Amino acid sequence: MLLPALDWHPQPRLEPLPLDWLALAGVEVAVLRLDQIDPLISGNKWFKLVHHLRAAQEAGAEGVMSLGGAYSNHLHALAAAGKRFGFPTLGLLRGHPMDTPTVRDLNAFGMQLHWLGYGGYRERHAADFWGPWQARYPQLYPVPEGGSGLAGAQGCMAWVASVREQLARLGWADYHGWWLACGTGTSLAGLVLAEAGERPVYGVLAVPEDHGVASQVERIVTAAGLTPARYELLDGSRGGFARVDAQLSDFISTTGVIELEPLYTGKALMLLKAQIEAGRFARGTRLIFVHTGGLQGRRGLE
Ligand SMILES: *Cc1c(COP(=O)(O)O)cnc(C)c1O
Repeated sequence: MLLPALDWHPQPRLEPLPLDWLALAGVEVAVLRLDQIDPLISGNKWFKLVHHLRAAQEAGAEGVMSLGGAYSNHLHALAAAGKRFGFPTLGLLRGHPMDTPTVRDLNAFGMQLHWLGYGGYRERHAADFWGPWQARYPQLYPVPEGGSGLAGAQGCMAWVASVREQLARLGWADYHGWWLACGTGTSLAGLVLAEAGERPVYGVLAVPEDHGVASQVERIVTAAGLTPARYELLDGSRGGFARVDAQLSDFISTTGVIELEPLYTGKALMLLKAQIEAGRFARGTRLIFVHTGGLQGRRGLE
């Protein structure tokens, strides 16, 4: 039963971000709180799923199967949605059975789990990867890792309308650009498509540059037929994905007005601070920072 899920249209709230280093630079930031759309279904991952769920419904599937690691925000959002809206979910996990808070939640949400090992998980990009799983679970629709691709990006386009509807409440006549963390760049691509060149989108890479984010974004933007696209990717990976150094943990714990996690949102806001201090944005600039969620994944890291 995928239809009830397709009828859910959560509206993320836009909130001012009162931080001294912003005030000092005369730059205003408002946060789009994807982390707070729901107590269980959190972050950008819900939006990246929506068009995949629609495709699943159109294909006549009953439920969805997808991939992720033992801390995956994507599998967490998918499993929570399956439980909430009553459709079956199957998770194919990286590595060998592990007991993390995320995995406990996946089980509690009723997601069926298969552990693929590391070698098995590396096969996920192979052309015939899904064949055997579809033969085994013909009623489940396969969704790529993280809900990526053009379908994933299309779900994120809605954020532009959400923000524009809420500007007046903040007393903003307009905004000058977007700032967000990138893993695959799918969410950034959605914003780039929706802005269609009107405002720039700045993406902070949470993964090293050799992860192919730039080409992934180009692929989505080209598939949608958009030229010219206005975005910039900045390296915020700090030596690797899931690398947490003392400066980053310090920054997160001293940024008391908003909860951040160290993999994505912490890195993104920290690089914004560095760029503002380096004079990238003139006084009077107004930016939207997307809180992409991920707070559930933090539980295993503390
Ligand atoms: C997955 C994720 C991202 C990255 O999103 P992409 O669309 O892959 O770039 C950013 N932040 C959080 C918290 C995430 O879980």
